[in-house]
Amino acid sequence: SIVVTGATGHLGRHVVTQLLEKVPADRITAVVRDPAKGADLAARGVRLAVADYNVPETLDGLFAAGDKILLISGSEVDKDRVAQHTAVIDAAKAAGAALLAYTSAPGTLTAALADDHRATEKVLLASGLPYTLLRNGWYHENYTENLAPVLEHGAVVQAAGDGRVSSAARADYAAAAVAVLTGEGHENATYELGGDEAWSFAEYAAELSRQTGREIAYRSVSVADLTGILTGAGLPAPVAGILAAVDASIADGELVVSSGDLTRLIGRPTTPLADAVTAALKG
Ligand code: NDP
Repeated sequence: SIVVTGATGHLGRHVVTQLLEKVPADRITAVVRDPAKGADLAARGVRLAVADYNVPETLDGLFAAGDKILLISGSEVDKDRVAQHTAVIDAAKAAGAALLAYTSAPGTLTAALADDHRATEKVLLASGLPYTLLRNGWYHENYTENLAPVLEHGAVVQAAGDGRVSSAARADYAAAAVAVLTGEGHENATYELGGDEAWSFAEYAAELSRQTGREIAYRSVSVADLTGILTGAGLPAPVAGILAAVDASIADGELVVSSGDLTRLIGRPTTPLADAVTAALKG
């Protein structure tokens, strides 16, 4: 089977939905924490398996020999994500899986956020499992799904200077995962995935102005100021620090991905940022 973890998350839902267009539903297993959240997938004929990365026993018997697995990285920043991912990799190895694809971060990214991904990659390579590293760049949605404060203040406030970001839609990264899970020849490959066009926050603000008909400016602040703004908005200090550090990486060009891997894997251009803005404004 094709097994997708994190199947009820944003990326996982795109993956399962796109898989359903390519393979029979009974060949797809969605790994979920909460079966109620996956009821719509089960209704479409997808097999549900319940497991929690934090409870290794729940991973016993989850996989079978020959499975192709997509391990979608965890989202619990307060947990040991490397231990979580290791538990999944161990279970896949024990079962004799044919492939484990992992959603990682760009190889150029040095921000602390990338540490768990680098460590997981090491564990995966050491496991001896056939692997694919899907080093996903940034999602458009990281920005376009958080427009409320931007529209309220008429400003895009970031600490990225003139840095550029090769973001793409979650659906694009999902399509790359589907290409790997349903295609051949992706064993032990590392893909650096990002959108076809890198944009700056000044350009992003200009696009928002164009589409809303309002004046929206880019206000470039320091990393320390952004951390303060984010904690002031209610984010826990460690999370604010992690997000602000990503902006420092963007300023240094670490989220520009120029490999062309994403468009090659999906066989079409990536979704333009402007389209994600349009979708978000339609809400
Ligand atoms: P989501 O937060 O929407 O999805 C995360 C998924 O992981 C959910 O399905 C969640 O389950 C599952 N999950 C979390 N913890 C556990 C656990 N302990 N056991 C089993 N499943 C677990 O994130 P996205 O889908 O948008 O992104 C996927 C991943 O990519 C994120 O988890 C994160 O690692 C990373 N990411 C990448 C970004 C980028 O720009 N490239 C931006 C943000 C995150 P449930 O549905 O039950 O909550």
